[in-house]
Amino acid sequence: MLKEIYKKIKKFDTIVIARHIGVDPDALASQLALRESIKKTFPNKNVVAVGTGSAKFSYFPKLDKIEEYQNAMLIVVDTPDKKRIDITNFDTFDYYIKIDHHPYIEEWADIEYIDDKASSASELIYRLISSTPLVLDYEVAKIIFLGIVSDTNRFLFNSNTKTFAAVAKLLEEFDLNLPELYSNIFMRPLNEVRLQGYIAQNMKVSENGLGSIKITNDIMTKFGVDVGSAGNLINNFNYIEEVIVWVTVSEDVKNNLIKINIRSRGPVINHIAEKYNGGGHHFASGARVTSMEEADCLIEELDEACKVYLEKMGDINENK
Ligand code: AMP
Repeated sequence: MLKEIYKKIKKFDTIVIARHIGVDPDALASQLALRESIKKTFPNKNVVAVGTGSAKFSYFPKLDKIEEYQNAMLIVVDTPDKKRIDITNFDTFDYYIKIDHHPYIEEWADIEYIDDKASSASELIYRLISSTPLVLDYEVAKIIFLGIVSDTNRFLFNSNTKTFAAVAKLLEEFDLNLPELYSNIFMRPLNEVRLQGYIAQNMKVSENGLGSIKITNDIMTKFGVDVGSAGNLINNFNYIEEVIVWVTVSEDVKNNLIKINIRSRGPVINHIAEKYNGGGHHFASGARVTSMEEADCLIEELDEACKVYLEKMGDINENK
């Protein structure tokens, strides 16, 4: 299938690369690494990476403006469903390719390359580039590395032999400056660390192991952080003995909604998130609701999932 994708890349003179709304480093890295690689392989092609950016990720190359294209191919990375693609003119392309590592939701592309066991969309782009004549140079390697490291949270999640083999290859071939790359991704303002302390102090933990915290707009203002940064802190609460699923509920006053971030080290949570205008991976999901009552219902369902999970684990241990 990777060879098929390469053939289509070779065929189209105009290629637009998009990804999901709510940009994150892996989505951005996978589209930018692919753009850079195609441009270096085929300098005469018009290749653009589109979508709303974020000042937080200014260490990546810049995105392009969304324009109207003719006879173009659309490649969408890191996005399972059509409604979450960050593009306005989806229907105007001649050919569609999906490259994704989320659990399957729906088919909408002519070629769909999906591996939900892959660590990241960036790892899939590495596979595509390394198994075809697409160029892999220092710049492309750096972007792919950033994507893989971010999405695995420094190889804590979803990293398998293919992930480590890809990263080993990148390090072997290119003299990547790891301290510099890590500081790009992991440097954060003291305000955020202080909010992390607040979450640690105030997170409610149910008897079933559900950790939850509501971060109101007032709290964000007090700590001087925005809703995106508040939600990102979810990633810093894994491996707490008493907590198996944890959720942050953050008020997004600007968009008049409530942003929910969920992580799990036991029960599968994406099916629950899907019921609340959300989705994601089995153990890392997000949702958007419009009231605290709705958020409370989601919290209740997550708590029930923890309960069922604990009972199942209890049965398994008893039968050992
Ligand atoms: P986050 O908590 O925002 O880092 O998201 C974790 C995972 O859930 C990512 O794979 C996101 O793409 C996915 N996700 C987050 N929010 C939503 C949503 N509203 N709908 C579907 N998937 C989402």
